[in-house]
Amino acid sequence: MTEMVKKNASDLDTKFRYEISEKVGAKSLLKCIQCGVCSSGCTVTEYVDMQPHRVVASCLLGLRDEVLSSQAIWTCSLCHRCTERCPKNVDYSFILALLRNMAVKEGTVPKEYSSTVVTIYNNGFVVPYTGGLKDNIDRRRNKMGLPQIVPPDLEEIRFIIEETGLGELAKNKEDK
Ligand code: SF4
Ligand code: SF4
Repeated sequence: MTEMVKKNASDLDTKFRYEISEKVGAKSLLKCIQCGVCSSGCTVTEYVDMQPHRVVASCLLGLRDEVLSSQAIWTCSLCHRCTERCPKNVDYSFILALLRNMAVKEGTVPKEYSSTVVTIYNNGFVVPYTGGLKDNIDRRRNKMGLPQIVPPDLEEIRFIIEETGLGELAKNKEDK
């Protein structure tokens, strides 16, 4: 359920809309007519704290903190249905990806995501494949006649994480 946000005009970040729309592929943000089609067809609409058309409106209004700290930008499954249906060709799913990048830069990433980065950095897997859990997985795979899991090249994975900037996310998480 979206809560009413009360703001003074001086609290609005009037440049926020341009900060987004100036990025390659995001100019369509400015064309939104608030018809709500994106929200009516969104596959996760009942699980988000702010529906797609409200995220777009908030970007246009300058509600920067509300948008970048919303859970809505992370709950999206990037199915692209909103983009396909928008009558004004607003590429909402692409804009969401940009908003995620901006949130990462500002350190407002849900802990579930930063924890996952740390797990991949430490283990090379999304789910730790060590200790008792590893023994369990190996035993069950053996039973089913499946081949053993080949551990990934951890150095290569860490290199990618560092090079893409995700390393900072992992570092911030460890600092906390
Ligand atoms: S469908 Fe497009 S024009 Fe309509 S509210 Fe969503 S983004 Fe705006
Ligand atoms: S891309 Fe995201 S916001 Fe758009 S319809 Fe799919 S889940 Fe909803």
